Amino acid sequence: MKKGIYIVATPIGNLGDISKRALEVLQSADVVACEDTRVTKKLFNLLGLDTHKEFLRLEDHNEAEQSQKLVEKALSGHVIAQVSDAGSPLISDPGYKLIRACKNNGVDVYVVPGPCALICALQLSGLPTNSFMFAGFIPNKDKARKDVFQKLQHIDTTLIFYETSNRLLKSLSAMSDVFKEREVSVAREITKIYEECKNGTAAELFSYYSENEPKGEIVVMVAPPSKHPLADINIEDIIRQELQENSLKTAVKNIVNKYKLNKKMVYDLALRIKDE
Ligand code: SAM
Repeated sequence: MKKGIYIVATPIGNLGDISKRALEVLQSADVVACEDTRVTKKLFNLLGLDTHKEFLRLEDHNEAEQSQKLVEKALSGHVIAQVSDAGSPLISDPGYKLIRACKNNGVDVYVVPGPCALICALQLSGLPTNSFMFAGFIPNKDKARKDVFQKLQHIDTTLIFYETSNRLLKSLSAMSDVFKEREVSVAREITKIYEECKNGTAAELFSYYSENEPKGEIVVMVAPPSKHPLADINIEDIIRQELQENSLKTAVKNIVNKYKLNKKMVYDLALRIKDE
């Protein structure tokens, strides 16, 4: 096996998802960099792998210091495997500083791909996959949560968030204020016995999960905003109809409120129609 560091994905719920190459690398590695040595040793035991090797803890708070140690070990010829508790390392998990340190110090970096919760969730969701944005964990504080949603609401892409089951209802409630009628998808317990993926508006999912307590691990996704807000309605007909019954000002106000459209755009169009 070539010397260097290997970023190794591990299962997110189904042990059968470990790859043949992951098994080879984990078995041959001299050092395993992991988040929690107990969790990773347990995984090694379940997979029947040799645990007589060095397991080094790599967490957000000690990543700089541990990276230095791991770079030295790699430069002295050790094969390093980097794993997280589950899934793909570095994705909402520690590790990117270690990889930077390796690259900056001439250590070869390899990836052994495998399960990644956000990709599996997106595949299950049926939401557009041509463009998406992973926004990490949803903040826990009410204001921060809403700020994040508001910041992202106009981005024309599928949004993906990691979430925990005990916070899901709060997030869906905030989403219903910001994302309104946009389709939302909640993927839960992916690759495990109770895997499910439910779609609806945030308000619909809020009421579903109020009745059915969400348990386990969760990914929440939001469909992109409709590209053309006017695509499904004939705005000119609507303006004409409103102008028959109301003044220009009232007609514009009614339409803007009802269809959540840009006021200037509606006003300019209404003015033109009125002058026709
Ligand atoms: N690096 C991992 C990955 O991307 O595969 C994710 C690590 S992150 C600390 C853990 C979060 O990933 C969970 O809180 C949940 O949001 C999501 N997750 C992990 N496993 C999952 C599963 N089986 N089903 C649904 N979500 C999962």
